[in-house]
Amino acid sequence: PVVLSQSKFIHRDNLSYPFEERGLQFGDGVYEVIRVYRGTYHLLKEHVDRLFRSAEAIKLALPFTNEQLIASLLELLKRNDMKTDGKVYLQATRGSAPRDHVFPKGVVANVYAYVQNLDRNLVNLQQGVSVLTHEDIRWEYCFIKSLNLLPNVLAKQTAKEKNCYEAILHKDGKVTECSSSNVYLVKDGTIYTHPTTKQILHGCVRMAVERFAKDLDIPFVEEAFMLDDIQDADELFLTSTTSEVLPIITVDGETIRDGKPGSITRRLQKAYEMDANIS
Ligand code: PMP
Repeated sequence: PVVLSQSKFIHRDNLSYPFEERGLQFGDGVYEVIRVYRGTYHLLKEHVDRLFRSAEAIKLALPFTNEQLIASLLELLKRNDMKTDGKVYLQATRGSAPRDHVFPKGVVANVYAYVQNLDRNLVNLQQGVSVLTHEDIRWEYCFIKSLNLLPNVLAKQTAKEKNCYEAILHKDGKVTECSSSNVYLVKDGTIYTHPTTKQILHGCVRMAVERFAKDLDIPFVEEAFMLDDIQDADELFLTSTTSEVLPIITVDGETIRDGKPGSITRRLQKAYEMDANIS
């Protein structure tokens, strides 16, 4: 397998970093995960645009333009003869330098990207998943797709240990998002989700869902819901690049309605498949 490293293509075994690397020592970097269906990117522009927004937010200069990165990412799939479903992980850090909190001078960002196979989880998409609720203990800049994922890792691990797929995060009862996905509540035919403030990651699939809802004439309200609203919800679902549009059927062991994915969730799943050309 070939990886993209500093705008060049090398065999993955040849990718190595000094131990004094700012991503490794400070989490001083940003990343993206981009979905690939049958060898073609989905929402590529959205992901690349967000990478540049994240980099700008941490004052990290990327050593290429938006257009150059898109060209390199397309080339990465070609070099790997990628024809199946998968995902590309890309990260950009403030580079290699002797450990010091202050930004190093004259050091270029370390950027790499690689492709992995990833099959769609059709069982989860069909049946829905169980989740638990968890306090949101993250920092104030969750719109930055930063490498600092410890609170997300801890929340997801807590979920895993309770046989749950995800953790719904809340601040004093107000639902923000999940540990690695956005979350939505449906009530009386309207979709509710947290607005795109600094408290959540502005998901690329969330952007697509907003567009689908508009196309389907389903009201999409960017208003946070509370943990207390969940018991009366008609439907609940989450979205992310790797999870797609995924129904939630139980929360903290309580089933949502009859425990079956709801009709609006199903319509959005269909719209997603059409959008990604996988229907
Ligand atoms: N929120 C968080 C915290 C995430 O890590 C992710 C996944 N990257 C998302 C939301 C969903 O974003 P996207 O739809 O771009 O995958």
